Parts: sequence; structure tokens; C-alpha cells
Amino acid sequence: MLAHKETWAGLVSLAHAGGVMSPQSAQTKLATREKHVNDTHQGGCLCGAVRYTATGQPKRVVVCHCASCQRRTGSGFAVEALFPEAQVNIEGELRQYRFVSDSSGRWLELNFCSQCGTNICLTLEVLPGARMLDAGTFDSPEWIDPRVHDFHYLFVRNAQCWSELPDDIQAYAQFYGD
Ligand SMILES: [Zn+2]
Ligand SMILES: [Zn+2]
Repeated sequence: MLAHKETWAGLVSLAHAGGVMSPQSAQTKLATREKHVNDTHQGGCLCGAVRYTATGQPKRVVVCHCASCQRRTGSGFAVEALFPEAQVNIEGELRQYRFVSDSSGRWLELNFCSQCGTNICLTLEVLPGARMLDAGTFDSPEWIDPRVHDFHYLFVRNAQCWSELPDDIQAYAQFYGD
């Protein structure tokens, strides 16, 4: 859909690049997020050894149906809130596992609790300085809202028949390159 280099500036342009949102609704979403730039959102792992605080709003929320996300989560897809790392403070011991994506050839790193194994966030070679927090690890994940945040559905070609996709979503068959 978009030949696109992943940069922070690019993320901003991507948010205005069309998709299913009209410019009006994109502006409304942005205005809502700007009212909440100082909000803090806490989260952590199952056992409590890792805790974190994210400040402000995610640049976007990614719902990824790729085969790697299905396997690493043991589920149908992953939901990731993308924050600049300066807006995220993590306490406790994380361990890392780095792997190379079959589709992009670039590395991704899982960051998980050293004691209970809960996935906390992803870091990516293609997005230096970003943390993709696993949305289900927030204490109250319901603050993440498609009416406020920019949701992008990736690798929908890999979605399982038991993972129903909502209507009117910004969807990409693979990553952003198609
Ligand atoms: Zn833990
Ligand atoms: Zn994925």
C-alpha cells in the first residue's frame, strides 16, 4: 500500500496518508490524544517482578497477525502500543530473545520477565528508539481505544479463520510495504 521507510517522521506522515480514516477523523483523534499527553499508564508482568509506566499516548497501535507473533504469543495475533522509549520507564529484570523476521530479514527482540516469561515489549531493528508494549500487560488496557488511537492491522493475509477482523480497519496484507 505504501512504500515507506520507518522513521518517526514517517509515522506522522503515515497517520495522514489516507487509509480508511477521513482527514477529519484523523484530526479529531489527534486532538483527543493531545489532551492526554501527560497521562500515565502502568503495567507489568504476571508475577509482578517487572513493572512499567508509559507516559502520554502511543504513536499508533499495531495488531499483528504475522506467523512470528502468533507463535510468540501462542495466540492469533499480537497487540502492540508503540511508544518512544523516552516515554517508557521499566523496572525489574527483563530478558531478551532476538530473532530475524522471515518476511523482512530484520531483527526483532522480545523482552520478557526473567521469572514468569510474560512478554512486556518488542524492540525492532527497523524502529530504533521505540518500544512496542504488549497491550494486554497494561493494568487497565481499556484506555487503548480505536476511536482515539491509530490502529494498524498488519499481516492480515496470515490471519486465522478464528481471528475475525473488524470492519473499517486500516489493514495491510503484510508489513507497510504492500
Ligand atoms: Zn514476571
Ligand atoms: Zn507480527
